[in-house]
Amino acid sequence: MKVLTETVIDDTLLRIKELVSDKGFITEPDAMEPHLVEWRGLWRGQARAVVKPANTAEVSAVVALCAENAIPIVPQGGNTSLVGGSVPYEDFGGIILSLARMNKVRGIDPLNYTMTVEAGCVLAELQRVAEENDRFFPLSLAAEGSCMIGGNLSTNAGGVNVLRYGNTRELVLGLEVVLPDGTVWDGLRSLRKDNTGYDLKHLFVGAEGTLGIITAAVLKLFPKPARRETAMVAITGPDAAIELLARARAATADGVTSFELMPRICFDFVLAHIADTVDPLPQRYDWHVLLELSSTSVTEDGLGEKMQALLEQAAEDGLVLDAAIAQNQAQALAMWKLRETVSEAQKPEGASIKHDISVPVSRVPDFLRTADAAVTAAYPGIRIVGFGHVGDGNIHYNLSVPKGGDNQAFLAEWERINEIVHDIVQSMNGSISAEHGLGRLKREEIKRYKSQTELDIMRKIKGVLDPRGIMNPGKVL
Ligand code: FAD
Ligand code: ZN
Repeated sequence: MKVLTETVIDDTLLRIKELVSDKGFITEPDAMEPHLVEWRGLWRGQARAVVKPANTAEVSAVVALCAENAIPIVPQGGNTSLVGGSVPYEDFGGIILSLARMNKVRGIDPLNYTMTVEAGCVLAELQRVAEENDRFFPLSLAAEGSCMIGGNLSTNAGGVNVLRYGNTRELVLGLEVVLPDGTVWDGLRSLRKDNTGYDLKHLFVGAEGTLGIITAAVLKLFPKPARRETAMVAITGPDAAIELLARARAATADGVTSFELMPRICFDFVLAHIADTVDPLPQRYDWHVLLELSSTSVTEDGLGEKMQALLEQAAEDGLVLDAAIAQNQAQALAMWKLRETVSEAQKPEGASIKHDISVPVSRVPDFLRTADAAVTAAYPGIRIVGFGHVGDGNIHYNLSVPKGGDNQAFLAEWERINEIVHDIVQSMNGSISAEHGLGRLKREEIKRYKSQTELDIMRKIKGVLDPRGIMNPGKVL
C-alpha cells in the first residue's frame, strides 16, 4: 500500500476526475454542502470531493483507485438517514461517492414480478414505475421523495408496509455490488429459489456502506392493491391494539397493510402545529391506531364489510371505543397526515430524545408500561411520544422535554435516558435500532447490547471484505 501523502492524494483525485468527468466531480463548497450535512443537521463532516459516477464501471474504477491509495469512501444515496451513516466525520480525508447519477431502471419483468434498478433511483420514482406497469412496489416511508433504493437497501429500511410485505431485505432478489477493492460482484439474479451456498446479498443489505457499494438490485414486485380501507380507531390502550391486530389479520386473509399506534399526545402535537389537520373522531381519546386493510382482488371481496364487522365486534368486546372509517381517498390521506407529521410536530415542542426500538409484537404493551414508568420516575414531567409501527413491534419512543423545561439540560441526559430505555428493550430481547441502523449514532452503544460473539463475527466479515478499512470508516463498527 502506498503511503498517504498529499501528492498521492492529489494525483489520485486527478485520476478520479478524469474517470468521471467534470459532471461527476464536485469540489465547489456550495455544491458539496448538501452532501456534508446530515438530514437533521446533527453532524457536518468534510470531504475532498463528492464523486458521482455515471455507471458501475466508473464506480469500480473509482473504488479501485481509492483502494490502491488507501483513500476512504463514504457511499451516499439520498442522505436522509437518521443515524449519521451517510455523512463523513469532521476530520475525514476521503471522498463521498454519491450514487445520484445512477438512476436508471434497467428492466422490468412483469411476469416474473421483478424490476432491475440502479442504486440511485429515488424510491418514489420506483413506486411510480411499478404502478405504470400494473404492479406494486410496497416499500414506503416519509422520505420516499428523496431517499434512494441503494440507501434503502443499505439501511434495510422499514416504513409503513412492513407488516404485510416485509422490510427492504425481503424485497430484494439480487444485487450488483462493487467490493472495497473495486471488483464487481454481479449477483443480479431474479430467482425466487437459489440455495447455492451463502446468500451473499444479505451481507450487503443493512451494512450501511461498510462492506461495499451497491450499484444495482433486482426488486420484487407485487399485484397492485385494488382497494383500501383506512380507519382511525380509538382503542382502550396498547393491549387492545395488539388484540385488534391479531383479529384483523385473521379476519382479512392477512390483509392488514398498516397498523400504527398513536397516543393522544401525537394528536395534540399535530393538531397544534401542522396546518390542515383535524381529529377525525368527535371526542378526545387516549389511544388510537391507524388501521389500513388492502386487497389485490380485482373482484369485490367485501373488504369494507370486513372492516365494519371487525370494528363492531371489537367494540362489543370492549377493545374499541370509537372509529372513523375513511369514506374516500381524501379522508384516508387526512388520517395518514396525522401519522406522518408526528416527528415534524414534535420539533416546536422543544428538545427530544428519540429511540427506534423493537420488541416482539406481543410485548409492546409491556414495554410501554415499563418504559413509561421508568422514564417518568427518572424525569417527572417528561412527555412520552411513543408511536409508530406497532404491527411490527417497532415503536418510535420519542421523549420530549417537560413543558417549559430547559432544552439543553434535557439533552444533557441523552445517554442516561438511552440507557434506561434500551436496558428495558434488552430485557425483552428487543433491538435498539429497529429500522434506522447504527451509523455513527449507535456505534458505541451497540457494544453494550450485542454479544461479543456477534460483534466478533461482524468484525471478521469486515476484515475479510475490507481489509484496508476504506469503506465508510467509523460507522457501524
Ligand atoms: P443515505 O442516507 O444516503 O445512506 C444511508 C446509509 O447507507 C449510509 O450509511 C450510506 O453510507 C449507505 N449507502 C447509501 N447508498 C449506498 C449504496 N448504494 N451502497 C452502499 N451503501 C450505501 N427509515 C425507515 O426505515 N423507516 C421509516 O419509516 C423512515 N422514515 C423516515 C422519515 C423521514 C422524514 C426521514 C428523513 C427519514 C426516514 N427514515 C426512515 C430514514 C431514511 O429515510 C432511511 O434510512 C433510508 O433508507 C435512507 O436512504 P438514503 O438513500 O437517504 O440513504
Ligand atoms: Zn418509522
